[in-house]
Amino acid sequence: MAQFQTMTARLLSSRPLSDYTKHLEFEVKGVPRFGFVAGQWLSVKTNTPDGEEMTRAYSIASPPSENNRFAFCLNRVHDGFMSNHLCKLAEGAEITFQGPFGSFILRPPMRDTVFIATGTGIAPLRSMLHWLLADRERHLGHQFSLLFGVRDEQDIYYREEFERLVADHPNFHFLPTLSRGGPEWKGLRGYVQEHVPGIVADRTDMHAYICGLDKMVSANRELLKSLGWDRKAILYEKYD
Ligand SMILES: Cc1cc2nc3c(=O)[nH]c(=O)nc-3n(C[C@H](O)[C@H](O)[C@H](O)COP(=O)(O)OP(=O)(O)OC[C@H]3O[C@@H](n4cnc5c(N)ncnc54)[C@H](O)[C@@H]3O)c2cc1C
Repeated sequence: MAQFQTMTARLLSSRPLSDYTKHLEFEVKGVPRFGFVAGQWLSVKTNTPDGEEMTRAYSIASPPSENNRFAFCLNRVHDGFMSNHLCKLAEGAEITFQGPFGSFILRPPMRDTVFIATGTGIAPLRSMLHWLLADRERHLGHQFSLLFGVRDEQDIYYREEFERLVADHPNFHFLPTLSRGGPEWKGLRGYVQEHVPGIVADRTDMHAYICGLDKMVSANRELLKSLGWDRKAILYEKYD
């Protein structure tokens, strides 16, 4: 299958999203179009200086398009090899990968949806939301809330972009919540799961898409199940 083929991509641009997070744009070599479904991930391979092969998964942060490009939203993990290797790449450098993989994708039929992420867990949700909101047919008649948990204001990755989507789409609601917001912060505070009951109210007919580290994903799954949600309505991707 094509997804198990090893492919090469060239880094087109790399820009910081915060002190330790970057947005990287790649172009897949040798193909006019790179197909994937919003929410999927790629398996990136490299060799460490002592020759050990290393493979790590990264969600595609950009929506599917007609070209051969994709983006990553990468967090530099302390003492982590791959995340630092990718964040240090110079423009024009190449990576090898396999994919796309994964079943963390939008389930038809569309329902009102709460998207829940912390940190770089925003990556696949950014892909899904751009894809959904790009076409009226995909989102008309549905409400979407993005609950995004980060530490402080500088960590609200893609903030202006999500605020523009809010301005253009009355059915999209962007709710960043800060665990360590300063006194000037007027928005939500605390962990994402504290705000989920307020968003879903007493409804159990929605979908939830949750992405981030295991502890957060598990807390939100348990919470939604305790509110009477069917587990099949709760889609999730864990990064650890
Ligand atoms: C399906 C999937 C999609 C993913 N998508 C993304 C993505 O879009 N962006 C992204 O930045 N990461 C993503 N990850 C995490 C990524 O695959 C790596 O685990 C991460 O980059 C660390 O790799 P490393 O080689 O730098 O560190 P490692 O050498 O693997 O780990 C170093 C240390 O950091 C801890 N650690 C590992 N991962 C994390 C983490 N994510 N946060 C905090 N501590 C960690 C480890 O326990 C270890 O102690 C995804 C993971 C999965 C399974």
